[in-house]
Amino acid sequence: MKALVLEEKGRLNVRDVPIEEHMSSYDVTVDVKACGICGSDVHYYTEGAIGEFVVKEPMILGHEAAGVVVAKGEQVTNLEIGDLVCMEPGVPDLQSDQVLEGNYNLDPGISFWATPPIHGCLREQVVHPSRFCFKLPKGVSVQEGAMMEPLATGIEAAKKAQVKPGDTALVVGAGTIGIMVAISCLAAIKPLCKQETQGYFIFLQIMHSLQSFFASYREFLMIGR
Ligand SMILES: [Zn+2]
Repeated sequence: MKALVLEEKGRLNVRDVPIEEHMSSYDVTVDVKACGICGSDVHYYTEGAIGEFVVKEPMILGHEAAGVVVAKGEQVTNLEIGDLVCMEPGVPDLQSDQVLEGNYNLDPGISFWATPPIHGCLREQVVHPSRFCFKLPKGVSVQEGAMMEPLATGIEAAKKAQVKPGDTALVVGAGTIGIMVAISCLAAIKPLCKQETQGYFIFLQIMHSLQSFFASYREFLMIGR
């Protein structure tokens, strides 16, 4: 299948990659329709490494994706063929201590797309556990679906910072994640984090010059309300 391959530091190719992924009875096959380009993808391209993760052989980039389910294993009950889904990029080892403690995102052995040597999802098709695929609500596009992973990061940051209505917050850095943190504070965390912020709108007073910039992102979080 066609994929965006980082051949080595500084060299990208769109080319055929022979990938055969086994689909278990709990997996789905997803035709990827949209994929974000993360700062980590850019780092691997420009530096060839992030910390201990070094690109030593060609690797497909991309880990923020959405697409359409085209096949499902016989045990899959949460999705149907034709569903639009976004996907969680990290799949943990279900036997790890962290998973059993309920912190599956902290499993050090997690298999995370586009983290060497694991291939990413900037390709035509992926096989993924159905439990790590989430059906998009009506009216949410695959492009918006591909933003769910960075948006989840923003929401988590806003929750951790315990931003409350009326608070003033400063977000340092206006890259994708900074914007996601800001809109998570600014707009309606209400539909996204029901149990903790039901009934509230969370307002953020950002530095004046950035206000109109962020305002345009409000629309995004209004989806689904
Ligand atoms: Zn990312």
